Amino acid sequence: MIDLEERIRGSLLAGAVGDALGAPVEFLSLKEIHDRHGSRGVTGPLPSYGQPFAITDDTQMTLFVAEGLVLASRAGALQKPSERLRILHRAHLRWLRSQGASSRHPTFGRCEDEGWLIGLEELHQRRAPGHTCLSGLQSPRMGTIEEPLNTSKGCGGVMRVAPVGLALGVQDPFRLGAEVAALTHGHPSGYLSAGFLAAVLRSLLAGDDLRQACTAALEELARWPGHEETTEAVRSALSLAGNGEPTPERLETLGGAWVGEEALAIALYCVLVSENLEAVLLLAVNHGGDSDSTGAIAGNIAGAVWGAGGIPANWIEPLELRDEIEKLAELVRTGGA
Ligand SMILES: [Mg+2]
Repeated sequence: MIDLEERIRGSLLAGAVGDALGAPVEFLSLKEIHDRHGSRGVTGPLPSYGQPFAITDDTQMTLFVAEGLVLASRAGALQKPSERLRILHRAHLRWLRSQGASSRHPTFGRCEDEGWLIGLEELHQRRAPGHTCLSGLQSPRMGTIEEPLNTSKGCGGVMRVAPVGLALGVQDPFRLGAEVAALTHGHPSGYLSAGFLAAVLRSLLAGDDLRQACTAALEELARWPGHEETTEAVRSALSLAGNGEPTPERLETLGGAWVGEEALAIALYCVLVSENLEAVLLLAVNHGGDSDSTGAIAGNIAGAVWGAGGIPANWIEPLELRDEIEKLAELVRTGGA
């Protein structure tokens, strides 16, 4: 029996490991991956960004989302929709600052005293941050589902919201996951894919299997305007998973993962067809699409299924900011108490 602590720690750690496995091949086609790394592609930790095993923007942002949830919990705001979202937005603004950028939002100058991640030098590294995340947070106003900032459906929303599903004090993970993504991504497929991921993670923590979790999240998804594209992507993943051996070529029929619904679909597919967490992550990064983001999202899901014990120890050991990630997982679990 895998306990809650194992699943929460597993989800954040495996997400970071998947992100780091995908980092060296994010912008390579499948053929280029094979030319550079052999016919099996990436099989374990490789250096990137001058580090032995570097996380990228996906994990950096995920950590700031986790910090925002911890601060909202400490402020007693997790059940207060507008207050919690403002706290989470300020956590995003601190991520923006860590990237050396500034914002025209009025709270930008006043958000630095909250939180502690901004003090970590290691997070002040640019690891190919997404344009929409940067520009959305530079806006003088906060993006919401009702008043979107843009029409982007990039995967920058879904890749960072896992902590929303893992924070048990959040009673409406689908809604908050979608709202957090909509801070930067205004297209329904950009934020509903994120809500879906948060809802799936919550079901997995309760011990549901992934197909059950998807069925429940699909029901919730269907109630949101503009859900059709995300619904279709998830259904394609479920049906492809029941249809033959997993291969990168088959995976690539789900898309390139640069957009939210495809990244979600590919991550779900990788977990559904794999025997263990190691196999999930290798499948999730060895394809021509956005490898670090699919590695991160598939890791978030697989870690909640198999727990931290499912991650090969020699993949955790060299992981950049490993101690900070584990500490945040504990804080997310306890609400920062
Ligand atoms: Mg990245």
